Amino acid sequence: MRVFKFGGASVKDAEGVINVVKVLTEMGHEDTLVVVSAMGKSTNAFEGVVDTYFDNPDSCKAALYELEMFHQEIVETLFNGAHGPIAERVKNLCAQCETFLANNRSPHRAFVYDQVVSFGELLSTSIICAYLNHVGIAAEWVDARSCIKTDNFYRSAHLNWEQTQSAIQDQIQGNVLKVTQGFIASDENNFTTTLGREGSDYSAAIFAYCIGATDVTIWKDVQGVLNADPRVFDKTQLLEHISYQEAIELAFYGASVIHPKTLQPLQRKEIPLYVKSFLNPRQKGTKVGKGVRMQPEIPCYIVKKGLSLLRLSTRDFSFVVEDNISDIFKLLHEHKMSVDVIQNSAISFSVCVQDKYRNMDALLLSLRSRFDVKHTPDVSLYTIRHFEENSAASLLKSKDLVLEQRTSNTLQLVLK
Ligand code: ADP
Ligand code: ASP
Ligand code: MG
Repeated sequence: MRVFKFGGASVKDAEGVINVVKVLTEMGHEDTLVVVSAMGKSTNAFEGVVDTYFDNPDSCKAALYELEMFHQEIVETLFNGAHGPIAERVKNLCAQCETFLANNRSPHRAFVYDQVVSFGELLSTSIICAYLNHVGIAAEWVDARSCIKTDNFYRSAHLNWEQTQSAIQDQIQGNVLKVTQGFIASDENNFTTTLGREGSDYSAAIFAYCIGATDVTIWKDVQGVLNADPRVFDKTQLLEHISYQEAIELAFYGASVIHPKTLQPLQRKEIPLYVKSFLNPRQKGTKVGKGVRMQPEIPCYIVKKGLSLLRLSTRDFSFVVEDNISDIFKLLHEHKMSVDVIQNSAISFSVCVQDKYRNMDALLLSLRSRFDVKHTPDVSLYTIRHFEENSAASLLKSKDLVLEQRTSNTLQLVLK
């Protein structure tokens, strides 16, 4: 069996859905499992619903209604009159979301987030599966929440591989095309969980691992994996082949074309990953697999924006690393900071973090009770893999360097 993953950009509107059918028709759809993200930017819009629910409840209903209309318009365009059952399904899913919010008593924001935001994928896959059947391609809708089992660390749930393996083997059978959701899963009480933003690639890898897929293709709005994000850098080049290890490194440093957790399960079973253009499905794209590290071998640029740099120093001249490092990491962990670069000297310690859960104020309060802390918000981290002498020159022209770190292979610059 093969696994195809279509991201939000590939199904952002009715035209996108029609193109998915075109890709499946051209590339074949027997023995295929299709994993789909929410349509366009609708995950962001569902995040907006959660924000209004907590911060501005009066506009919550309107925010949800807007999402319902967005999906209903796509349905109307696609089904051209024959949209009774699927329009009803879209309406029901939105009503379920509304009922959940009306009855919910949990103040736990991450829990509510997962229950709500997951409707993006439930809606997209319902529409796409119905459309496939409508145009004569038999397809079965599979609820990913009954396949992928996790703990209850809402918004970034961790996999229970054993339960997931057996649930997927039970449910993914037969050679009819299957359509399921990326990003979403469920915990032991069957509450919905999510795997972290952009987690649909990871879902595709989980399914691929558990069914022992022959390969995985993620269909993108770019030719494949490039040596830099084309939205940020000019003159990017296609990487035709990358080893699993190199792809893991690129994704880890933040190359957002592949979710960082995607590669390890694939590497374990040596399942090749193709990254291809959904507009030119016959183009070769990028193959991630065994063998050469990178073809062509050129510097790769990765940027992560919106990070914070913290520089801590001790007040009593004690050594940071010897006496305090475990406490600092404990605090970072407790405040759910994701840590990017760390650097230390005798009495100071710098760390670049991403504050996904908006805990910076609380963290600073705890840290300042013990250390002098300099907080520089909104910095960008540039990572250059396989850097050459002049690789960083153009970046340094327009920004201030606040931290630099290099190994033989990788140069990292924190710029403000
Ligand atoms: P999806 O529709 O699957 O969610 P994404 O938008 O998450 O797709 O990923 C595709 C985008 O990733 C591209 O449009 C591109 O701007 C960005 N990107 C970042 N780094 C790279 C890279 N190294 N190579 C290709 N694309 C990249
Ligand atoms: N829909 C989710 C997101 O936008 C998951 C994904 O697209 O991979 O983050
Ligand atoms: Mg995405």
